[in-house]
Amino acid sequence: MIYLDHNATTPIAPDVRTEMVSCLDCAFGNPSSIHAFGQEARCIVDRARERVARLIAAQPEEIVFTGGGTEANNLAILGAVTGRESGRAHVITTAVEHQAVLNPCRHLEATDCQATYLAVDADGCVAPESALEAAREDTTLVSIMLANNEVGTLQPVQKVTELLKGRTTLVHTDAVQAVGKIPIDVNALGVDLLSLSGHKLYGPKGVGALYVRAGTELAPLTFGGHQEHGLRPGTENVPAIAGLGKACELAGERLADDAARLGSLRDSLEQHVLAQLDGVTINAADAERLPNTTSISFQGLTADMLAINLDLLGLAVSTGSACSVADQEPSHVLLAMGSSRTEALSAIRFSLGRGNTSEDIMAAVDRVCQAVGCMGGRR
Ligand code: PLP
Repeated sequence: MIYLDHNATTPIAPDVRTEMVSCLDCAFGNPSSIHAFGQEARCIVDRARERVARLIAAQPEEIVFTGGGTEANNLAILGAVTGRESGRAHVITTAVEHQAVLNPCRHLEATDCQATYLAVDADGCVAPESALEAAREDTTLVSIMLANNEVGTLQPVQKVTELLKGRTTLVHTDAVQAVGKIPIDVNALGVDLLSLSGHKLYGPKGVGALYVRAGTELAPLTFGGHQEHGLRPGTENVPAIAGLGKACELAGERLADDAARLGSLRDSLEQHVLAQLDGVTINAADAERLPNTTSISFQGLTADMLAINLDLLGLAVSTGSACSVADQEPSHVLLAMGSSRTEALSAIRFSLGRGNTSEDIMAAVDRVCQAVGCMGGRR
């Protein structure tokens, strides 16, 4: 079986597993306890915090551990709006965000808050000026993803923060798909808040982090103890946090090599599919993209059926975001990019990862051609 669905989730790296198992076996203490058991667990959490911070050029005290990327996004968006001094709130985001950003924004709209969803071009890219044009006196937060999970398009977040300089508006970026795949420096980006998730970078599921720039006013969503500066109260999930820390350390060491190798495998996948099949379109082909991601539309076919046939042939891919698979609705990302409903329903996402080889890619191309042929597609 060949796995080309790394944007849905990644396998745990062996070194991450080792770190987590040793933590489960030996460090059961509560990090808030004063005795040696507690101190040992506290050291593990502190070291993980340093490792996460280093990967994104932040300070350790600016990292808040969360229960994953969705929770980090919710804390950023709802916490920024609740934490504002007073008055009405307005948030700006884009039409191509993950549900973990769109749904908190919709939730706010159901209260006294307004939201603007910026349009994107045919490559899924937002114009930085459109954020400035949409900004109002009461704009509390701008939330623009760093990299799109379905098509891989990188958004000009740094340009947006430059244009918004001097305003009190906070800028958040959902970097869940970007962290570990492209270099990230929160200071160069100029963001106040950045979300990341363990299971997208060969770490465990159910753990993530929110970078909160020092001095940023944010309100917690849950209430309890003092943990994570009171922003995410509750006893820390020490093994998961340790795993996330190790995954970030490994990502920092491997990032340049992984990006170069996966970029060339991705390009080769696209070239071979284009050469061997008719009626194929690479979505967001002209955008600056994540090196591991490609979204390909197969004219006349239904992607759901194609993905099932590919699974039977031993190739795991997806039709878009794993979180919206049950919807059977066309991708809101491709629709926002101008695809028709039928085109959007014919797109498959291939997302490569560390374990993939050039042999995998050639075998994947063969299986795609075979499945498309069987389904009466164009060869
Ligand atoms: N944001 C993006 C861009 C994602 O791709 C995902 C997961 O697919 C999330 C947020 C949610 O992260 P998590 O699965 O850790 O909750």
